[in-house]
Amino acid sequence: MRVLITGVAGFLGSHLADRFLSEGHEVLGMDNFLTGTAENIGHLMGNEQFNFIRHDVTEFIYVQGALDGVLHLASPASPIDYLKLPIQTLKVGSLGTHKALGLSLEKNARFLLASTSEVYGDPQVHPQKEDYWGHVNPTGPRGVYDEAKRFAEALTMAYHRYHGLDVRIARIFNTYGPRMRLDDGRVVSNFLVQAIQGKQLTIYGDGTQTRSFCYIDDMLDGLYQLFMSNRTDPINLGNPAEFSILELIDILQRVVGHDLDVTHESLPEDDPQVRQPDITAAKEVLDWEPEITLEEGLRRSLPYFQERLGISS
Ligand code: NAD
Ligand code: UDP
Repeated sequence: MRVLITGVAGFLGSHLADRFLSEGHEVLGMDNFLTGTAENIGHLMGNEQFNFIRHDVTEFIYVQGALDGVLHLASPASPIDYLKLPIQTLKVGSLGTHKALGLSLEKNARFLLASTSEVYGDPQVHPQKEDYWGHVNPTGPRGVYDEAKRFAEALTMAYHRYHGLDVRIARIFNTYGPRMRLDDGRVVSNFLVQAIQGKQLTIYGDGTQTRSFCYIDDMLDGLYQLFMSNRTDPINLGNPAEFSILELIDILQRVVGHDLDVTHESLPEDDPQVRQPDITAAKEVLDWEPEITLEEGLRRSLPYFQERLGISS
């Protein structure tokens, strides 16, 4: 297959490019480096099966030659990024998704949207199943991301229903691992950096809010299997093991082998109180479920963060 991956210089996109290449496919990567880095794809330069186009996907996308798939990952993804880049986030979710869908239609290529658990907002149903419509504040600060992704899902389904386009929608829950930006503000990267540097861990609020963290390798299996499947409706991909932020700190203490100091900061506006995927559909349809525990995933992530910070283990 020959596939286009938008957002290829990001955390998930660069790993997904590696995954498709290792399965023997040809990858065309596209990115404008809004939140991604050239470093993430540096190792792919010179690979004959990989080509890169620097392009903003909110503008018309031109690709020469046939495509079998378009995997649309371009979008700021971390809260600090989309709060800083509200208009770009709305544009890439709406205009960017429109352009990527238009390209898929033109090439008769399968389309995969990287959607998010944020479509459920601050959920009133727990755990979240695909048939839950969500609880999103459209005009709150997080609305720029949540509503862009909800629009992107609606547009994707419209292309499916109206044009018969072959589509996949992955609702991705919090994912972590090597190649996250050290300063991307997400809880796992913040805590790993703070722990390595001997700084206080910044707990927002009282730390009782929960998240379900999925290690990158499990997520890549899920995304790849979804792309290869014939599931058209949205599907949750995430690790259903749910932890409070305080429990995350306990596990991190075991990983680094000593106690960690903490400090409390205010909870960001509209920060979801709970989040946990119901992955019954992914288990049934994709025969997929995560295998890597949070403790193991943190152990595997630690060396990358140590190396990037110039601290040997
Ligand atoms: P990331 O910020 O590391 O990567 C996103 C990439 O998209 C970056 O390289 C950025 O430069 C690029 N990009 C942004 N706007 C663009 C534009 N207009 N044109 C071209 N490229 C553009 O984020 P990530 O964590 O790798 O997330 C990738 C995708 O997965 C996003 O769509 C995100 O919403 C989704 N997602 C991620 C998570 C997670 O936990 N990481 C969870 C849910 C959903
Ligand atoms: N969080 C925290 N300390 C940090 C960064 C984040 O306590 O240094 C909290 C944040 O308020 C949220 C949770 O950790 O409740 C997950 O935040 P993240 O930004 O990783 O992801 P998201 O909120 O998008 O799920």
